[in-house]
Formats: sequence, C-alpha cells, structure tokens
Amino acid sequence: MTLHIPFENTYVDLPNRLFSHQKPYPVRAPKLVEFNRPLASALGITGAEDDLELAQVFSGTTLPEGADPIAQHYAGHQFGNWNPQMGDGRAVLLGESKGYDIQLKGSGPTPYARRGDGRAWLGPVLREYVVSEAMHALGIPTTRALAAVETGEEIMRDRPLPGAVLTRVASSHIRVGTFQALAARQDIEGLQSLMDYACARHYPGAETPAAFLKAVIAQQANLIAKWMSVGFIHGVMNTDNCAISGETIDYGPCAFMDAFHPGQVFSSIDRHGRYAYGNQPQIIAWNMAQLATSLLPLEANSEAAVEEFTNLVNDMPDLLRRSWREAFGKKLGIAEVAEGDEVLVTQLLSIMTDQKTDFTNTFRDLTDNPTAPLDVAAHPDFQDWSAHWRDRLALQHAAPNDIMRKANPFVIPRNHQIEAMISQAVSGDFSLFHQLNDALENPYDANPDWTNLTAPPTASEIVSQTFCGT
Ligand code: AMP
Ligand code: MG
Repeated sequence: MTLHIPFENTYVDLPNRLFSHQKPYPVRAPKLVEFNRPLASALGITGAEDDLELAQVFSGTTLPEGADPIAQHYAGHQFGNWNPQMGDGRAVLLGESKGYDIQLKGSGPTPYARRGDGRAWLGPVLREYVVSEAMHALGIPTTRALAAVETGEEIMRDRPLPGAVLTRVASSHIRVGTFQALAARQDIEGLQSLMDYACARHYPGAETPAAFLKAVIAQQANLIAKWMSVGFIHGVMNTDNCAISGETIDYGPCAFMDAFHPGQVFSSIDRHGRYAYGNQPQIIAWNMAQLATSLLPLEANSEAAVEEFTNLVNDMPDLLRRSWREAFGKKLGIAEVAEGDEVLVTQLLSIMTDQKTDFTNTFRDLTDNPTAPLDVAAHPDFQDWSAHWRDRLALQHAAPNDIMRKANPFVIPRNHQIEAMISQAVSGDFSLFHQLNDALENPYDANPDWTNLTAPPTASEIVSQTFCGT
C-alpha cells in the first residue's frame, strides 16, 4: 500500500461506554467517485496515487495501517423526543489525522444500527459531498468531505439503489447527544473525561463546565447566524446532530432556500416545522439547554450551577442576534453594524417575503445592481427602504460593494440542481456533480461560466420536500 495516513487514535482512550470497536465491512466492487486532494494534503495524507487503492480504503474494504476503527455511542432528542440509544449505526471512525476525525459513513452495520442496514446510497453521499464542501467555501464551519466511493452493491430503499460510502472529516464527532448519553446514566466519571477531552480538542482554557458551555454556546450562535445569512435550513437539528465543535454536521434533508420565507421547511419528516428556517435560533438555544442539563452533574453546588447555566442559555438569543445583525449588515454593505441597523434588515426581509423573491439572487442583485434590483423593486415599500439604505451607507467611508461581494454568494447548491445531479449520477453521469463542486469552490466570484447554476428553479423544477434518505 502506498497510501499513508498519520493516524492517532485518541478517542479509544476514553471510557469504553462511549464506543464499540467495529471494523467496516468490505464491499464488492469499490469505485472512486471523488477524492479531495487539497483536504488530504492538509490532513498529512501521502501516497494517494492509486484510485483503486483509494477506493478500497475509503469504502472500508481495506483497513489502512494505524486505523483503530470504532463506532461512537451517543443519545439525543429527536424532534424533542428522548432517545437514549443511538450512535454511529452506519459509520466508523478510523482514527484522527492532524487532529481531525476521519470517518467512513455507509460502511456497514454497527452495534448501534438497530433495524438499519448500516449502508448509504449514492444520493445522500453525493449531496453531503457537494453541500458540505460548499459550506466550507462559503466560510461556514462544517464537517468536510474527503472521498466518495461507489460500493458496486445495490441497497434497498424504496427501490434498489447504488450503494456508496462517504468519508467525512470533522474536528470531532462529539455531539450534545454524546454528553446526554452519559448524563442520563449519571456517569459522572465518564462525563468528566469527555468534557476534559472535548475542552482539550476544541476549547483549551475553558476547563470548567460553565466556561465550556459558554464556549460551545458562542460557537453555535455564530454558526446559526451564518446559516441564516445564506438561507440554509439544516432540517434535523436534533441534539445528536449538534456538534460540540460548532461545525455543521449531518447533511440529511438540509436545503438552501430559493424564494424567501421565514417559515420555510423542506424536510419530509418535519411535519410541524420545528426546524423551519426562522426557528433555528430558538432550537439551538433549546439544544444548548440540553447540553447545560447534561453538564450539571459535574457541579458540586448544583443550585449555583443551575443559575449560572440558565443565565448562559438565556443570554444566547442576544448573542445570536448580534452575530445575525453583523452577518446581514455585511450583506447590505455595512462595515460596522449598529443595533439600529436591524430594522433595515428586517424591513428588507419582509419585502422579500411579500414578493417571494429569491434569497440569494436578491442580495446579489442589491450588490451588483443596487438601483434596480428587479424582484424587490415592485414592492410599495421598496423605494422608501432603498432611500434609508442609501442614507445609512452614506455615513461610512468603506465601499459597500466590496463588503457585499464577500457576503453575498453568486452561486449556492440549489435543491433542484442537487436533485438533478443525483438522478444523473444514479444513471452513471457524474458531470453535474463535478460541475457543482467546481463552481462552489469559489461561491462569491461572479463567474459567467456558472450562470446556469444561479437561476432559481422553474415551476416544474421546484423541490418542495427533501428526505433524510438514509
Ligand atoms: P440521522 O437521522 O442520520 O442523524 O441518524 C439517526 C440515527 O439513526 C443514528 O443513530 C444513526 O446511526 C441511525 N441510522 C441512520 N441511518 C442508518 C442506517 N442506514 N443503518 C443503521 N443506522 C442508521
Ligand atoms: Mg445524525
């Protein structure tokens, strides 16, 4: 084997309640779809020369030297309902490289698989590849995609579909639900080890439970504000899909909005809109309250801790609002946003809601063509709004255009393009997959080559529902 991954295996030193040793299962005919070479170099991976070898390793068929594969255990609230028994049901962590987890997803069943087959089909694998890499290029904290491999096996969903494995890279896979799993059992020793480990990896210096909680809250507030600023809807913000690192994790039924509406929901299983676009700030605070609850057993003086943790969680909406204001201020070209600027943002969003305008393109039109942004201009309040906006920008020296070009993407992974990409890939054509990856590498550049990817869906192309698709 020429491939070398400089593995460390630190997670296996944690209490064994947190994982099970589990090897990935070999697959019949692994075939490499994509390998992320820049990411591989950043991870210190060398000798990635032979596509067949890469396909074997990143499908779980050959175990690379130094890997000590495990499936991680966690619990969580799914749509608000407690589920004590979850974990990597179809994933294994091979180990860490340069501090990052390298995980195979779709590599066969584990002790946490329950009724699942431990497999993934090509659609969700390619979706996660494209969307997570796009998020990274947009400057949003996220897990990354290192490889996508077809297994050469069919798996059964509502019909037989091609199987695939995604290699996911994360600064760790520790979730709110990982803490919940231990807290639910009053496993104080385990909790302390996990918190110490998570602090060392993500928040060195934040060694008390309160400091740790505060640090996670700050990262999550920043993350959700960034999601909002690009019209991203995660779709399954269960506590098991909420990473302690503050990275976006688990690209299931996620979607970018086309026409703006704060109540927008795509996920087929989110019947009551719990995870709607505009609910995301409340839900993340709810998730942080669950983390706070899980950390309480670590505090000797629980009354004082309840008060302190409650204050931290209660402060989160303000914190998030500040990040949100900052992010949307930049979208309007405001260099140093003030509290009073919030009304400019909310008024514009309300005009956009009325007009059902495309979220991404409206901001891009305002960037490139501020005097005649087509879709919003027809609204009776637009001229007034536009005058206020101009007055506000006149108060600063910085050029709004430079700020806006870096805050308003030209191209995003639109649902209808993702769906088209998946159905083409299932029939063997990966050209749109590669095109999307290329275009989304520089999403803020107005590149005429990618104009075809910037159009909102036509009536027949609109995707109104997305599926977990596991
Ligand atoms: P998710 O909705 O993808 O966040 O997964 C929720 C839970 O279901 C986790 O415990 C997963 O490991 C498990 N799971 C999802 N898909 C599968 C599958 N195909 N096989 C086994 N377990 C799965
Ligand atoms: Mg999950």
